Amino acid sequence: MVKTPIYMDYQATTPLDPRVLEAMLPYFTAHFGNAASRSHVFGWQAEEASEKAREQVASLIGGSGREIIWTSGATESINLAIKGIANFYADRGKHIVTCKTEHPATLDTCKRLERSGWEVTYLDVDRTGRLDPEAVREAITDKTVLVSIMAANNEIGTIHPINEIGEIVKEKGAFFHVDAVQAAGKIPFDVNACKADLVSLSAHKMYGPKGVGALWIRRRPRVRLTPIIDGGGHERGMRSGTINVPGVVGFGAAAEIAQKELPEEAERILRLRKRLHEKIVSRLEDVYLNGHPEHRIPGNLNLSFAYVEGEGLMMALKEVALSSGSACTSASLEPSHVLRACGVSEDLAHSSIRFGLGRFTTEEEVDYVADRVVEAVTRLREMSPLYEMVKEGIDLKSIAWTAH
Ligand SMILES: *Cc1c(COP(=O)(O)O)cnc(C)c1O
Repeated sequence: MVKTPIYMDYQATTPLDPRVLEAMLPYFTAHFGNAASRSHVFGWQAEEASEKAREQVASLIGGSGREIIWTSGATESINLAIKGIANFYADRGKHIVTCKTEHPATLDTCKRLERSGWEVTYLDVDRTGRLDPEAVREAITDKTVLVSIMAANNEIGTIHPINEIGEIVKEKGAFFHVDAVQAAGKIPFDVNACKADLVSLSAHKMYGPKGVGALWIRRRPRVRLTPIIDGGGHERGMRSGTINVPGVVGFGAAAEIAQKELPEEAERILRLRKRLHEKIVSRLEDVYLNGHPEHRIPGNLNLSFAYVEGEGLMMALKEVALSSGSACTSASLEPSHVLRACGVSEDLAHSSIRFGLGRFTTEEEVDYVADRVVEAVTRLREMSPLYEMVKEGIDLKSIAWTAH
């Protein structure tokens, strides 16, 4: 018998790996020093631990530790990257290129810049959520300062051709920021392969602690930015404030584990995801995959169950932690902007469920969840007058209806 509740929301956050906790603990107690204290051993130990963590995090993405700036999480990293570049290089032009399926941290930051005179191009994606590198080429003008694109999407798992995009961005001479939160540690990702200038990372999406992030900033050629937080000149003046030493130690440990275990782990999780997908679609009709069938991170399965509301399905699956692309699950009231950008109809967006698998997901859990999903969808459809009509061969497109 599997233990419930089952966690299947790994794109929202991941549990802390016990090995990470182990690495962090001494830095809450014995080694509590302030990494900026230069006059005693407590400070030196904290500084040394933070420097080691920079190397561990940088190594995961093929960078150098000296290029890492600690932040409070990827939301801050993304804000610092976009606003920092925009403010420092505004005299080069005031144009940014990004994509419609980006995380709100990117979209809302760009929207704010629009209020202070910046022009932002929000690129479209195809039905699988993929961006065409040629669209990036066409969007870049001589006024374009920055291109900001995510490596992998958090809702539908789609992986963008980030290396091809980076090639074009550098050819055109703009700065390139990559939100690599869902890619780092999950799929091979390298700052040089994609020619990034800035890369945002978050510890809690890779089995590290919450509230810790990093911004990798290329040193050669040098990338400069205007800080958002002033005071004390920590992090080479780019992000002042006392470093969260236990947090960054945890981030470092998490990055080292991810790097070491990535190939095996990706394979194992991919197998589980395929098993879950297969066990559902082999027993249910009218289930649609959102995102790309191949270019997707191993731990993401996003499905729309026609004639069933995602909200209702999640209620019926209370013992499984899932997330839905319909309204009401997030802080906003809109259905998923990502599914909308993929051209998914409002009805199917409302019936979408994201299954997020990860390091601690077991085969037993996958089988249990598949069985529960099949039962619940079957039952909900039996109760649906809509589904009844479809079964009787009535063309739904001919009558007006909403998902509610
Ligand atoms: C979670 C996430 C973020 C935000 O990271 P936080 O550390 O939670 O602020 C940004 N981008 C993507 C793709 C994410 O999944």
